[in-house]
Amino acid sequence: MYKRLIILSIIILTALCGLVWMGYHSIRIRAQGMQGARLGEFAAVAEQIRQDVTRTLDEFMQTEQSRPYTDYQHYYVPENIAPGRQQMPVLRSPLAGRMEQGLAYGNFQIEPDGSVITPNDNVNQRQDLTESDNKLYTEAISNRKNIEDNLLPVMHGTVPGSLKMNFYSRNGITPLKEPETVEPDQFAKEASQKDKLSQSYPIESLQSKGQKTQVIEQRRAVFEQNVLSNVAPQPQQQTQELTAQTEQAGGPYEQQAGSTNESQTDTVQVRIEPFFPVVVPGGDSASQQDDSIFGGQVFLLRHVQIEDRHLLQGFQLNEKLLIGQIEDSASRFMRKGMSFELSPGENTRDNGNVAYTAILNFGFGDIVLNLKEIDPGWIGKEIRHLRIWYFSIIAIVLLAVTLGLVSLWRNATAQIRLAQKKDDFISAVSHELRTPLTSIRMYSEMLEKNWVKSQDKAVEYYGNMRQESERLSRLIENVLDFSRIQRGRKKYAFNAGDINKCIADVVEMMRPYATQKGFSIQTEPAPIEQATFDADAVTQIIVNLLDNAIKYARDAEDKTIIVRTKTEEKFTVIEVEDHGPGVPHRQRNKIFEQFYRPAAESTRETTGTGLGLALVKKFAEAHKGFVEIISAKPTGAIFRVALATRIRLVLFRAITEEQL
Ligand code: ADP
Repeated sequence: MYKRLIILSIIILTALCGLVWMGYHSIRIRAQGMQGARLGEFAAVAEQIRQDVTRTLDEFMQTEQSRPYTDYQHYYVPENIAPGRQQMPVLRSPLAGRMEQGLAYGNFQIEPDGSVITPNDNVNQRQDLTESDNKLYTEAISNRKNIEDNLLPVMHGTVPGSLKMNFYSRNGITPLKEPETVEPDQFAKEASQKDKLSQSYPIESLQSKGQKTQVIEQRRAVFEQNVLSNVAPQPQQQTQELTAQTEQAGGPYEQQAGSTNESQTDTVQVRIEPFFPVVVPGGDSASQQDDSIFGGQVFLLRHVQIEDRHLLQGFQLNEKLLIGQIEDSASRFMRKGMSFELSPGENTRDNGNVAYTAILNFGFGDIVLNLKEIDPGWIGKEIRHLRIWYFSIIAIVLLAVTLGLVSLWRNATAQIRLAQKKDDFISAVSHELRTPLTSIRMYSEMLEKNWVKSQDKAVEYYGNMRQESERLSRLIENVLDFSRIQRGRKKYAFNAGDINKCIADVVEMMRPYATQKGFSIQTEPAPIEQATFDADAVTQIIVNLLDNAIKYARDAEDKTIIVRTKTEEKFTVIEVEDHGPGVPHRQRNKIFEQFYRPAAESTRETTGTGLGLALVKKFAEAHKGFVEIISAKPTGAIFRVALATRIRLVLFRAITEEQL
């Protein structure tokens, strides 16, 4: 029984431990999963931003790429004028009148002789200069100065440490070389090695990769007129035809275009190569931030070749606007709980609650986009919540299981104890049966074989036989009553009668047995009116109490047993007092349990079944009463049985134990 319980407990506790372990690990895995998923969200947002920025820049570059080369001059002759027309219209460049065009700032053209022209060169030649014209003029001058001071020296390779862009010289054109740019993949690799949460996002829109060289045919007359229109007209002729000035112009066109005049066809081929970025140091232009993101000013240049005339056209990248556009795009794609911070240059992942760093790699430089958690501890909080829930449930389950196991243990212990008691009871009953039977057989044999010669002896032996058979009857009566009560079959007959007389009859019945054992029984009846009681039950009570007194007080000096009755409130109290060893206080509750026999010396030496007092208690309870034990003076025990005999118990005549 215990073994099975122990195995069951071990299995249940092991299963619970397993559950705790599994729960703990699955919560950890969930935490990792949540972190992974969140990281995935950040990566997805970064990719969306990259795509959006790329799309915006692609559109911008497409516009710039398809911009006619003539837009970079201050005047131009439109393409679609009727062929053969003597006087061609000269129009102002659409770029004239402003410095910014989307992300482009201060468009310019470097002439074959190294001089710089811009669409706003001649703004000061107007007559009615407004304030904004003046501002534009100042900006145009400073832009030109910036190009001449910072870009041109780099193009000539005169600035130490600058990009090696020696494709242009005063003496002629050398083949165009790709600028040296950092491989995006290489950067990505470095970044990923440094930190898993930093990823490089290449944005190639501003590089020449992917763009195509355009080759277009232009009518020679238009081309020539266009070259000529580079010479600034008089202010009053700005939008007029300039045919007359064509002859006077001379200059670069005269020398270059004139030399090829005779053998050439009616059209010229215009070859426009893709834009490429050039980063140069310095710059104090308005569009330029104090500390540049890319470590210098970014110019986007394209090489335009018309026959043997080579031009460089380009503009400066408006970094402020670029940052603004990236911020716009980033704020559009932010998800719940996310924020961002753009930090040009250095990776600032270490500070604050940056969860993911997207390095927008433009090839010639990076912009670091730090994606942040607004509440960096939200995953931790959720996991803590989950943990508290889970472990609370486990604790409740554990408590329930422990309580269940404890009650199982207690039950099992009680069952085992009861089984043990029953075993003891069976052996006690067998013993109790055998002893009187042996005596009766012995006496009857002696009398039968006429071995008892004296008449007195014969009378004594007959008396002994009667006593032993009475003892047998008492025992059998007890066992039968107990069995009836156990099965709920015990029936009581409550009748009105004289309880003192009933008690006196039992005493008289027991007296010879007591006398033989050296005891004297005194009765002290109280005047009691009619009482309602079960005579058999009261008889059993008195017999059992007297039997016990005779058994356990056999060594007492005072071998007097007093049987008295009292009335106390609604109860009739029967007291049986002896002057034996008494019952120790700690056993006083237990002695009324079925089969209980203390291991005391006096009990071990006495035969018994542990049923007597249990039955007395049951009978008292059947009379709505109780039984208790108090100490007698100087020694001994007084058993007090209270019976509610004054209540009209007739009402529940024949009541069964089960109903009680
Ligand atoms: P049994 O007498 O068969 O052992 P009982 O139920 O009658 O069973 O008594 C239970 C126990 O109470 C006894 O074993 C004994 O130890 C104790 N007991 C009962 N009556 C007395 C008494 N008068 N004096 C001392 N001990 C007693």
